[in-house]
Amino acid sequence: MFKHVAHIGIAVKNLDEAIAFYRDTLQLTITERKKVEDQGVEIAFVELADGSVLELLAPLNEGSPLAKSIARRGTGLHHICLEVDDIDAALAKLTADGITMVDKKPRIGAEGRRIAFIHPKSAFGTLIELQETD
Ligand code: ZN
Repeated sequence: MFKHVAHIGIAVKNLDEAIAFYRDTLQLTITERKKVEDQGVEIAFVELADGSVLELLAPLNEGSPLAKSIARRGTGLHHICLEVDDIDAALAKLTADGITMVDKKPRIGAEGRRIAFIHPKSAFGTLIELQETD
């Protein structure tokens, strides 16, 4: 059901500074940058040579859920995203297993694919995003 790590999400306060680090210091490629208003975040995707992806996330404003998360837990590793073939089947199985989901139904993520988050309290402290294959 779970295929591979689609990306790793990293929370930052200042997206420009984070992009400069990943692009100029680490010499990685920034493939896309965009605002996701309904989630209160601006994101940038960083791609490595093997196709691995990092997702840098910065809050758009103080009211953003990400701003609250950073206030509580600081910046750094925010979530891992696992790719699944069928997100409806994955959600049905996880729900049947008593797993607490942040999203009871899939929603559309920043990459235009269907996503859902598993609550960290059901995943040993890690926020896990599920993303459906294109
Ligand atoms: Zn993500």
